[in-house]
Amino acid sequence: MFTSLSDRLTATFKSLRGKGKLSESDVNKTVRDIRMALLEADVALPVVKDFTQAVRERALSAEVSEALNPAQQVVKIVNDELVDILGQHTRPLRLAKTAPTVIMLAGLQGSGKTTLAGKLAKWFKDQGDTPLLVAADLQRPNAVTQLEVVGQRAGVPVFAPERGNVGGHDAVGPTGEGTRSYGDPVEVAEDGIQHAISKLYNVVIVDTAGRLAVDEELMEQAADIKDAIEPDEVLFVIDAMIGQAAVETAQAFQEGIDFSGVVLTKLDGDARGGAALSVAKITGRPIMFASTGEGLKEFEIFHPDRMASRILD
Ligand code: GDP
Repeated sequence: MFTSLSDRLTATFKSLRGKGKLSESDVNKTVRDIRMALLEADVALPVVKDFTQAVRERALSAEVSEALNPAQQVVKIVNDELVDILGQHTRPLRLAKTAPTVIMLAGLQGSGKTTLAGKLAKWFKDQGDTPLLVAADLQRPNAVTQLEVVGQRAGVPVFAPERGNVGGHDAVGPTGEGTRSYGDPVEVAEDGIQHAISKLYNVVIVDTAGRLAVDEELMEQAADIKDAIEPDEVLFVIDAMIGQAAVETAQAFQEGIDFSGVVLTKLDGDARGGAALSVAKITGRPIMFASTGEGLKEFEIFHPDRMASRILD
């Protein structure tokens, strides 16, 4: 995870080690190296600019010139600035005052939404909650089945159109028996919430359709679902491996559905990952969770400070 960024930054700091006072040219070189490292890791240009400017200003200030160990002070500054772009603090999930808490997932196809739905469901279940998964991704015939499989693995029922009764789970779908139609995702989402209310599930996780690229129809559908179910959280799920497209995609989703939080997936891959790291800063929305593998437990609450330390480790 972020190996090359991490290696580049570590190498930069190494060249400062042992230096007493830092000259302006030391600072300039360091800032240039950091800039290259961030750009090579695909961090978005506006984020890189702000980042390096802040580091430069602080590195030339008394904070560093009067420090006993200037090199260490620079590392601390870079750490602080990384924490800043990653969102400063962990933002806990907003829970509904009156159950159920409704969480809607959105993102491109393949971003890891369905897998995340299972992870979140299991996480809630392990805390003693009673989650329900709702399959409102009716775009791909396989998506409903895939969520049902994930639900089975997590031991969490799935509300799905049509054949909802999988593996003895108790959720049943709203469309009539025998129909092959996958129905209207907005209706499925609404019916899923009603089902949760009547059966006393206290968390509802709604999986929505993704496409390979952002398109208007997808966005309208997601916005319609959001309007209909008024979720407590709308989580934008983004694959850390998608590189520079991350920022554009995040902005399109922000415009389309004004999501409330971000989930980074596939952080286990050896992706450069920097574009995903830019998403919090660019959209002003917090990264709330990180997915670090295909298994249901490979999932963690995102802590900006811990992630910064890992990058600088
Ligand atoms: P969706 O189309 O957004 O619902 O994406 P899926 O949940 O189906 O995930 C797409 C692929 O990515 C699947 O093969 C998942 O097993 C895989 N995947 C999801 N999350 C992660 C992750 O955090 N790490 C890795 N390595 N693979 C993941």
